[in-house]
Amino acid sequence: MPRLVPLSALQHYAFCPRQCALIHNEQLWVENYLTAQGNLLHQRVDSGEPETRRGVRFERGVQVSAPSLRLSGKLDLLEHELATAKLTPVEYKRGKPKVGNWDRVQLCAQALCLEEMLSTQVNDGALWYWQTRHREAVLFDEELRGQTLAVIADVITLFDRGVTPKAEFDKRCKACSLMDQCNPKLLQTDRSVQYVSGLFQTEFE
Ligand code: SF4
Repeated sequence: MPRLVPLSALQHYAFCPRQCALIHNEQLWVENYLTAQGNLLHQRVDSGEPETRRGVRFERGVQVSAPSLRLSGKLDLLEHELATAKLTPVEYKRGKPKVGNWDRVQLCAQALCLEEMLSTQVNDGALWYWQTRHREAVLFDEELRGQTLAVIADVITLFDRGVTPKAEFDKRCKACSLMDQCNPKLLQTDRSVQYVSGLFQTEFE
């Protein structure tokens, strides 16, 4: 059975393909204050009970998948308008709205999962940013859907090949939770982090 792509990997890939490979191929994960804040936020979101308010059912921690796209993952929140059957996935993020599209890509992939599972159409969703207390509506138009499908295809290639892309230092790196482990200024090469740690061990042993 082919390896499934976690929804979170799409966001990691859209942010930086190397970060995606380090986390999902090399299993590199480092807890720091950024990831701890993110975990806390998702624990709070996931611990909420399902409820219905003003004709909208709120379901938390909803498992979804799209086997045809090799996707699986979990929605933070699914809003279900009972009168119209409209579904709106909502993703919670620790920080603030990004310049890049990576959060929107992850959210759009959630919609693709819902559409495949429920044979329905999901036209829009929302991103909720903890730092700015801001809810951003996201329309799943053709452009975003195309971009999302392209990222899914790229992540599948990355998983199947198992090659870690080279480090390229730029301003994203300052916001990257793996900055210290990746060391992009030093590693302007396609070596994996494990390979480089092995070199250092050999040199200093
Ligand atoms: S530090 Fe930069 S190059 Fe390295 S994984 Fe993070 S964003 Fe990518």
